[in-house]
Amino acid sequence: MHPAPNKIAVSEDWQEQLKQFVNTIDRLKEYVNLTAEEEATLRANETTWGATPHYAALMDRDDPACPVRRQIIPSSLEQQNRFGMDNYLVWKENRATGEVRPDSIARQYVDRVAFTVTQTCGIYCRHCFRKELVVDGSLSLNFNVDDGLDWIAAHPEVRDVLITGGDPFLLADDKIDYLIRKLRELPHVEMIRFGTRTPIVLPQRMTPALLKILGGYHRVPIWINTQCNHPRELTEETARAVYDLLGCGVNVGNQAVLLKGINDDVETFRELHQKLLTVRIKPYYVFYCEPAPGIDHFRTPVEKGAELIRDALRGHTTGLAQPMYVIATNIGKIPLMPDYYIQGKNAKEYTLKNHLGETTTIPNMPE
Ligand SMILES: *Cc1c(COP(=O)(O)O)cnc(C)c1O
Ligand code: SF4
Repeated sequence: MHPAPNKIAVSEDWQEQLKQFVNTIDRLKEYVNLTAEEEATLRANETTWGATPHYAALMDRDDPACPVRRQIIPSSLEQQNRFGMDNYLVWKENRATGEVRPDSIARQYVDRVAFTVTQTCGIYCRHCFRKELVVDGSLSLNFNVDDGLDWIAAHPEVRDVLITGGDPFLLADDKIDYLIRKLRELPHVEMIRFGTRTPIVLPQRMTPALLKILGGYHRVPIWINTQCNHPRELTEETARAVYDLLGCGVNVGNQAVLLKGINDDVETFRELHQKLLTVRIKPYYVFYCEPAPGIDHFRTPVEKGAELIRDALRGHTTGLAQPMYVIATNIGKIPLMPDYYIQGKNAKEYTLKNHLGETTTIPNMPE
């Protein structure tokens, strides 16, 4: 595990961490030596930015290419948008379709929905696909939780509710408790999921009181997916938070984003997925970085993720470390996994190729 490179005391109290949020140039300078370009960009910046002290302390003091630093500090490249889509979130979350839904409900599937409950985060990721909502503030939504709950109650085909944001674990305990209790009262809701970066950026959030709320009932399980993009983000505090979540019956998965210059090389990609398992986080997805406006500089060609699965993970490390590589679109998530295994097939046999390029044959079976 990487020790925090900046030896700055970090509060054990999550609310204190939010009070000390690192979102001014002066605060940032306690953690890093800003380059002239970073400082000029920050002075001109009009978007929401910043991170918790826990996460800020993981930045390299001198390297502007540090993978944590690039997720926190705005880049002048955000002003360029050659390949991103305008009004991305409206397209992506089907907000302009005929179905009448509250702002808080995004729908791409019959049996599950994404329920947005806040636009506040513990880090304002520069690569966020929801940046129009949480970073730029160009899209505003009405987050009336009861409207969302009423809509879900009226849709018995929804068996899986993914609570997202923003970061839902930045809500107060009583709000989280209310959401979970209301959803568990609905007979058709079989599972509740939270998308939250807090296990990575604010592990102190996993307090005994929150764990009690999350672990309070076994019949409608809670699953968490967090977002860790680089092994440097995994700390002893995160390991402890995940251990505590598992101890109350909550599984933790990871949804990494493929980010150019941050995790798009074979060594980093493999180390990330292996290290996640050492802190008991199960790799779930790697997302292609979405074509939201102003994040061209984080995007690779689409094929890159499949190549990394092939060259860094498949066969090179345990199957437990294998996420599914997907691109999230307005019609759902589409897998883009590498395609090399079947070299040939006929009525009699299959020729299969492994990660080293070796081939073997197995007999086929008539129907
Ligand atoms: C990602 C997403 C889901 C959940 O997808 P899974 O593949 O089940 O994790 C559900 N609804 C929306 C709108 C989503 O974007
Ligand atoms: S925590 Fe999630 S919603 Fe918030 S900025 Fe990061 S990616 Fe976006």
